[in-house]
Amino acid sequence: MPDKFDRAPHPLRALPAIQKLLEAPEAAPLFAVASPAAVTATLRLVLARLRTKSHQTPAALPTIAAIVMEAAGLLDAQKTMILRRTINATGIILHTNLGRAPLGEDAQKAAIAVMQGYANLEYDLHTGQRGSRTQGIEPVLCRLLGAEAAVAVNNNAAAMLLALSAHAAGGEVLVSRGELVEIGGGFRIPDIIRQGGARLVEVGTTNKTRLADYRSAITPDTRVLLKVHQSNFRMVGFTAAAAAAELAELAHEFGLLLIEDLGSGTLVDLRPFGRSHEPTVGDSLAAGADLVAFSGDKLLGGPQSGLLVGRAVAVDPLRGHPLMRALRLDKITLAALEATLRQYLDPSRATAAIPVLRMLVQDAAVLRQRAEQLGRMIGVGDDAIVTRVVDSDGYAGGGSLPGETIPSVAVTIGIAGMSGETVAETLRAGAPAVICRVHHGAALCDMLTVADEELPELAACLRQVARAAS
Ligand SMILES: *Cc1c(COP(=O)(O)O)cnc(C)c1O
Repeated sequence: MPDKFDRAPHPLRALPAIQKLLEAPEAAPLFAVASPAAVTATLRLVLARLRTKSHQTPAALPTIAAIVMEAAGLLDAQKTMILRRTINATGIILHTNLGRAPLGEDAQKAAIAVMQGYANLEYDLHTGQRGSRTQGIEPVLCRLLGAEAAVAVNNNAAAMLLALSAHAAGGEVLVSRGELVEIGGGFRIPDIIRQGGARLVEVGTTNKTRLADYRSAITPDTRVLLKVHQSNFRMVGFTAAAAAAELAELAHEFGLLLIEDLGSGTLVDLRPFGRSHEPTVGDSLAAGADLVAFSGDKLLGGPQSGLLVGRAVAVDPLRGHPLMRALRLDKITLAALEATLRQYLDPSRATAAIPVLRMLVQDAAVLRQRAEQLGRMIGVGDDAIVTRVVDSDGYAGGGSLPGETIPSVAVTIGIAGMSGETVAETLRAGAPAVICRVHHGAALCDMLTVADEELPELAACLRQVARAAS
């Protein structure tokens, strides 16, 4: 179709025709790596880009070889998935940017089983009638926690939005000034309350909030007392907070609900494993909270999800709420979640079967062995890499166990002619991608978050980086 560019002769009008490119000997190698259709489409894309570019800046006419090279690069990039498996060598167990909890074996198998075909997602196998989507997780959660009822949605932010929309819309929510937190990724308690259609009423001060502060703030419009776990920071010094048990008593005296956003919400007490105390979901329910919200992919160790457990009067109104339809989970997540929860039915097995718990309770001696093993694997047939085993600090991450470091062991990676930053950048580009830490200018692989089974692959990735340097 003629346009204004046809009138002005331009060097890029002399770009080779697609047919000429396809027949050029330079293009032959492309057909070895991709189908004729893909090669044609990619060459067309390169030509189209060149034409667009030429409108902005007059460019020199590229050679056929240059066009083919660009197409080869595009075809290569298309072969590697952008979202891909990643080796987490950061030492941060619940790394939100790296997908938080890796799933245990049972959860993986359960997810694969339902994704390969159909599943009784909303079908009751006893009655042959329509069933509840959360039929698999609800009885397990109730049994584990002694709760009356449970539902699950997409994540904990969704759980809070649903809970506040269903119970506080048009009314007031009382929150301590010390708990008006931002979790990260834009989740702020005041925003979620507003989004739920409720009014935030701040009580107490940043460092001290007493039960009397809540009591004096209650009005006929109050619907909910909200308690929020401070997750990613810790207050020390001259502080005070009302206990969940007294808040529950106060809420019930006025016919209100106590909702607790527990964040991580572990099901097991971590103290026997040498970690500091993280409030458990059971603690909150025992204290009298009507509804407890927590993430499925933090310390619980399951897939991304948000769980709501508590009294039937608080949970049941959530089931038919219009937001539930928008926030509901899919069958793959529900299967992985049910399998993860089932591990907790046998507490003696849970820590071994759930990767997050397994990582949290690792022994320093095991981490050191892993580091030495990696060093040996890299060392074999390669002196381009110098490794050193060093002590390191790991973290639970994901707002869990704030301020607490987990003693760990790492391997520093020295590659001649490469800065630590360059090593890290090259590792990121691989498949699997490897994410390490850079500490005092050196790349460092922390063993807290690397599984034994990943060591050969990690060693291979590191050797590949060294080859790229030489
Ligand atoms: C992590 C966290 C959230 C958000 O949970 P997601 O599952 O990431 O949506 C909300 N509240 C608290 C206290 C948290 O720690």
